[in-house]
Amino acid sequence: MALDIQHLENEIIDQYLYDEHPTRPWIIGFSGGKDSTMLLQVVWNALKKIDPVLLTRQIYVVCNDTLVENPRIVKFINKTLKKVQKAANEQQIPLIVEETIPKLDDSFWVRLIGLGYPAPNKFYRWCTERLKINPTTRLITEKIGENGAAIILLGTRSDESSNRAASIKKHEIIGKRLRKHQLPNAYVYAPLKDITTNELWQYLNQVPPPWGGNHKELVTLYRNANAGDCPLVIDDTTPSCGGSRFGCWTCTVVNKDKSMEGLIENGEEWMQPLADIRNFLIETRDNPEIWREKRRRNGQIDENLWGPLKFETRVEILKRILKAQKAIEDTEGVELITHQEMVLIQFHWFRDLFFKTKVSDVYNRIYKTKFDMSKQEEKQKQESDLLRKSCKQEPKDVDLIHDLLALQKTKTLMMRKRGLLDDFENRLDQFIEESKAKK
Ligand code: SF4
Repeated sequence: MALDIQHLENEIIDQYLYDEHPTRPWIIGFSGGKDSTMLLQVVWNALKKIDPVLLTRQIYVVCNDTLVENPRIVKFINKTLKKVQKAANEQQIPLIVEETIPKLDDSFWVRLIGLGYPAPNKFYRWCTERLKINPTTRLITEKIGENGAAIILLGTRSDESSNRAASIKKHEIIGKRLRKHQLPNAYVYAPLKDITTNELWQYLNQVPPPWGGNHKELVTLYRNANAGDCPLVIDDTTPSCGGSRFGCWTCTVVNKDKSMEGLIENGEEWMQPLADIRNFLIETRDNPEIWREKRRRNGQIDENLWGPLKFETRVEILKRILKAQKAIEDTEGVELITHQEMVLIQFHWFRDLFFKTKVSDVYNRIYKTKFDMSKQEEKQKQESDLLRKSCKQEPKDVDLIHDLLALQKTKTLMMRKRGLLDDFENRLDQFIEESKAKK
């Protein structure tokens, strides 16, 4: 193998053992793709060469689930992560697998169906920060809070073999491996930076993963999906998603989802309804005269700017998702939208005074059951009416109070109140700024 794997492992051992801060943990960004798989494998094999008593630095393997990941890939990643955690425990590798998800109020469906955000495109890509960057940032910040600092390991590669020798030389200078991350006390380490794509595939084909099994499924997935990675996006300096695939199945930032088409062509026909929904999202975004409001959320009408998706459009999208979910959930075990998301969507519909159709009506029609949201619905409606009455003198306070309530409800639904105070303070600060600006 042309690749000097020995050298690579020695570099990693050196960084692990002789770092000036012996307690700052390593956070390995894992997306299940080829780059982060090789990264985890190389780090693991390097650690196996260290005397176990010296393995005192904690390693977190962090995987972000946007909740709209390609379900075929989610299955594969979840299976891998279980194997990774089990094997790490057995082999006494100090590694903990952690999964991050977006805040409920930031979920793709709550934004799109609840608030009427148009499907993202490259000019209005509201999703990456909410679905990917923020959840990971929260985890990194938490680890920095606990340990004072952290090193984030990424599978990023420049894939420019001509730069390789010079770059490796640079890396030989101790202390030059890390670059500063934009978060305070966070550093980025990209050990695979100079590995070419050929070397990477060569390695994965020849070296089995230390957590057991082989890389056949990964190789097949890539072949069937004609795909590239959708890497762990930690900030705006890392390669972003949307252009390369294996990302969200709802992604409308790319014109064609080649990976989903590839998977369908290669036997995963059950994904066809998902591809159809994605195409419908593009239709609702690109034909605003049919699917979107003229009036924007701030009440303005602008000839060149369209408002949120009409309620009827949002109802139609929800209907299509639930129909697709009903068709595949038993055979594929796939959930496309969660109950918590539906509750919050209903909350936003009430807040926007949309009473004609309820989320539970749509659900019950498709599932022919009774998803009983009536108590929540009635309570939300009463809250809304009462609030409007009490804020007659200061109508703008209605929005603020609604936002604070939504924040609180989001955290309660997710059974997590961490960060609630910060969220409240941020929203209050924003309100004060807006009030000052209006004066
Ligand atoms: S993959 Fe597409 S939809 Fe998902 S976060 Fe990236 S740009 Fe947004």
